[in-house]
Amino acid sequence: MGHQAGATQPPTPHKTIHFCSQCAGPVDLKFVSSEDRWRHICSACSHVHYLNPRNVVGCIVEHEDQVLLCRRGIQPQLGKWTVPAGYMELQESTAEGAARETLEEAGAAVEIVAPYVHFDIPGIGQAYLLFRARLAPPFTFAAQAPESLETRLFPLEDIPWDELAFSAVSLALRYYVEDRRSQSWRMHHGVIRKQAGAGPNDPGSFKLTDYMGLPLGAERIQTQA
Ligand SMILES: [Zn+2]
Repeated sequence: MGHQAGATQPPTPHKTIHFCSQCAGPVDLKFVSSEDRWRHICSACSHVHYLNPRNVVGCIVEHEDQVLLCRRGIQPQLGKWTVPAGYMELQESTAEGAARETLEEAGAAVEIVAPYVHFDIPGIGQAYLLFRARLAPPFTFAAQAPESLETRLFPLEDIPWDELAFSAVSLALRYYVEDRRSQSWRMHHGVIRKQAGAGPNDPGSFKLTDYMGLPLGAERIQTQA
């Protein structure tokens, strides 16, 4: 059955690409019935400009029963606390990206311990992958301008819950505190669904769905390539 214009078609998204990266021609938003999606398509050469979610990678850094947090020096959420994390770059693995972001934002060298949380946030086109990591020699850290204003180790009971920047970070740290207290580590997966009307500076207004907490064995099995 053919597509009925206006009946089931999803609402027109915001046009975010205006010129073609292949030929510099004008780009149009067109509804592609076979994919049931709107796509940015060049009106001159028909190149399809796909938009896909981005991976945010980062670390929950442990040191002497404390966790390393950074106070953000840039928008969004300037002045709020978070774990070191940011967009994955091309040509790197998720763990490499997580360690790189930790060095860039917290000035800290780390050893990756294990993948820890994987949260999808479909409403904003992001997937979070945070690793547990340990502070590595020389065991130093420092705020890195302009990304961070301050970098500190927090005992778990002093985590500034009301001053955290992002829902994914808040959720990850809550699981971290639970797991550390019970000494039973799990890998956590879930989907963060922002509640309607929740602003980007309102990290508390979300629902977690499709949650899976997978207990981790005591020993890590590692295969060398
Ligand atoms: Zn083009």
